[in-house]
Amino acid sequence: MSEFRKPVPAPTDASRPFWAGCAEGKLLLRRCRQCDKHHAPTRHVCSCGGSDLEWTEVSGLGRVFSYTVVHRAPDPAFKADLPYVIAIVELDEGARLMSNITGCSPDAVAIGMPVRAIFETVAEGVGVHKFQPANS
Ligand SMILES: [Zn+2]
Repeated sequence: MSEFRKPVPAPTDASRPFWAGCAEGKLLLRRCRQCDKHHAPTRHVCSCGGSDLEWTEVSGLGRVFSYTVVHRAPDPAFKADLPYVIAIVELDEGARLMSNITGCSPDAVAIGMPVRAIFETVAEGVGVHKFQPANS
């Protein structure tokens, strides 16, 4: 793991529970106690106006909402991954997360494709979420 040269998440107070979950192989979102809607990690106020959001583990299942295939590395550390997919995944619980789609050719990725979360340990105690086809 000392070979990992990509940037790693730098949790803030707002996102720390989310990244701690990723390190444990759990996908956590913020759920509004008032209306039950789930939100992305850094959201503090629900669309219903509620501000009582609790961290809750979700299924990790969702669908590709949008994606792009990266052919030019933004940093030399990403060169070996080319081409790779950056996607917005809409989780079954409703929230959307930006992530990578792995486990299949970029050509196989399509909008609406069912995916499930997987987790990769990138440094001591640091995990990141990715998604792969749900049927793999
Ligand atoms: Zn709400």
